Amino acid sequence: MPQAINDILDDRKLIQSAYRKLLKSIKVDIDEADRKNIRKAYEIAVEAHTEQRRKSGEPYILHPIEVARICAEEIGLGPTAIIAALLHDVVEDTAVTLANIHERFGEKIANIVDGLTKLKHDFNPTNAQAENFKKVLSTLVYDVRVVLIKMADRLHNMRTIGAMPRHKQLRIAAETSYIYAPLAHRLGLYNVKTEFQDLCMKITERDQYDEIAKKLQETRRQRNTYISEFIDPLKEKLDDLKISYRIHGRPKSISSIYNKIKKKNVPFEEIYDLFAVRIIVDVERNKEKPICWQVYSIVTDVHTPIPERLKDWVTTPKSNGYESLHTTVIGPKGRYVEVQIRSERMDEIAERGFAAHWKYKEIKNQQDIYESWLDNIRDLMEDVDKDALEFVTDFKSNLFSEEVFVYTPKGDMKVLPKGATALDFAFSIHTDIGYHCTGIKVNNRLVPMGYQLENGDQVHITTSKNQKPNEDWLKMVVTGRAKSKIKSALREDLRKIADLGKEMIERKLGHMKLDLEVNAEAITRHYGFKNRTDLYASIYNGYINLADLREFNVEHGRIIFDAPKLRRQEIPKAAPSRRSKNDKVSVRPLVLINGEPGDQYDYVFATCCNPVMGDDIFAFVGTNSGVKIHRTSCPNARDMMTNFGYRTLNADWSNHTATEFVANLVITGIDDGPGVIERVTSEISSKLGMNIRSFSIAGDEGYYEGKISLVVANTNQLSQVLRALKSLDGVSTVTRTD
Ligand code: MN
Repeated sequence: MPQAINDILDDRKLIQSAYRKLLKSIKVDIDEADRKNIRKAYEIAVEAHTEQRRKSGEPYILHPIEVARICAEEIGLGPTAIIAALLHDVVEDTAVTLANIHERFGEKIANIVDGLTKLKHDFNPTNAQAENFKKVLSTLVYDVRVVLIKMADRLHNMRTIGAMPRHKQLRIAAETSYIYAPLAHRLGLYNVKTEFQDLCMKITERDQYDEIAKKLQETRRQRNTYISEFIDPLKEKLDDLKISYRIHGRPKSISSIYNKIKKKNVPFEEIYDLFAVRIIVDVERNKEKPICWQVYSIVTDVHTPIPERLKDWVTTPKSNGYESLHTTVIGPKGRYVEVQIRSERMDEIAERGFAAHWKYKEIKNQQDIYESWLDNIRDLMEDVDKDALEFVTDFKSNLFSEEVFVYTPKGDMKVLPKGATALDFAFSIHTDIGYHCTGIKVNNRLVPMGYQLENGDQVHITTSKNQKPNEDWLKMVVTGRAKSKIKSALREDLRKIADLGKEMIERKLGHMKLDLEVNAEAITRHYGFKNRTDLYASIYNGYINLADLREFNVEHGRIIFDAPKLRRQEIPKAAPSRRSKNDKVSVRPLVLINGEPGDQYDYVFATCCNPVMGDDIFAFVGTNSGVKIHRTSCPNARDMMTNFGYRTLNADWSNHTATEFVANLVITGIDDGPGVIERVTSEISSKLGMNIRSFSIAGDEGYYEGKISLVVANTNQLSQVLRALKSLDGVSTVTRTD
């Protein structure tokens, strides 16, 4: 069949050209042996994936080749990572085994491929994503390259996600923005992070994405004119420095512009810092700092600076390695412009993060910031009791957050996550200092242990041998290290108490001529404890009255319990009342869940995001609240899909029902008297014929803000209202708030 042969030849051409592109993209020096190994990995992968195709129909092998190219070109990794990337899917999906890889490429590469393969298994249907993330991090501690390759893998999958069904797109986007984007940020891969966020927004909020992209395009010429107006006078003075430099102004990413629009509640047209100006100097390492400050002084000579906006990450780099000098100045026409000043080396670290950091490591004499970050992760992982979900939450709050800089009495600087407390500080110095901490002075003033540290605080700890942690301490710390240390101390305590409790019950059963070993399981279950340790500890603490045991019959040395008794805390609350038929929704519209009429699920609309017909939606199965329909842009969506992906279902609007929804709007403007309320209500009720459920308005010095709750049939009608209201006199903004 000539057609088929042609297809095969086309595929082959495609594959070979992708491979050539990969080879060209390698930036580091590679020797003949590396080149041979890369070739070998490529051949094995081509052979192994030969029968497979991607959802889009293209040969599967293009995926690993492209992932390898991203590693080489966009992250700046070397031959080891390139080989591992080429092989990253073979063990999982083909006949090639880990042993084969070990044999041909050695232990290092086999281990990385093994790490990447493990990351893909989702054995556990509950918390699968959280488990998965925990795995990502345990491999990261072992070899950061595993995670960097995983980033490249995810990036390529996100770039080519179009062929996937919609519900999968949503789930992958949720996971990406919940885990991979912040991790990319933490590893200093700013470009990757930004692209993740943009790709996610394109999936979850396509309309808004397109709208901003279009507006950026339309305003490009205008913006470029402004940028030259801003840059030209700077160039003249920078030339006098007689160094080589680059200067440019670039628009910010679509997702970051969108965030600003949402946060400040202003339209696109009113966002002025749509771009940042970057000045990159090419100077020797030892001149970087003075030259950056010289450039700063030139910038602020020409344009007036706003001193509070100066951020000096040249003197103190961010803990992800980022170095740069940022300032905001007032440019022509009184607009705020952010200027970033850095060296070529700093720029490379800003673009490539971890990989670039390695490259410059040898010539760096300060403490290794990544090492201390990895140490923190190891601390978090140490806590074996923690379930995956708790782990992810801790990780996010500890290691993705901003930091606060504080000092020991001797003046040594300590970096802790923002929100860390005085007690966290004690544990960061030494576990024993944490355990025995009795009092804390900050800047010579006595503070409570839960005092939240601020930049520049000097912290002094007093200890006593008799002090030890208690349950309350857990509420006073935020760092994973302190938490896991306190927990293990409490566990140790619990074990001691449990031993005493065990003796007590043994004695009691002895009187009844019963054996503990035979009865322990049944008694534990009877009182509703998860394990014997908890049971014994409760006995010691007197929470349980062992006299109760005499009330039951004994057969062959076993106590026969009738029905399991519930512990007081675990008595279930009255079952939640059925869906309240209050004024929320007047007629229930038909939603299709997984393509079938949703009635059988007895769903309700989530009140956190109030979906309106036409919104992009999904269904979420709650543990005791039934099925709820959320908007895909719901602030809780990401959390739900990432941590409970298995509980989300596809939902669509069925189009043959006419029903009503409640939409909440906030309307702001300049108040020119009582006329506003009248105009707004008459526009909605009389002209558009819609019902207002509630309307409240508050004002201050001519400015007012009103909250309107109104009943609409679908998103079309809603946008009609939005347009109509925006055009009214005295109305400046109208926004939907759910
Ligand atoms: Mn892959």
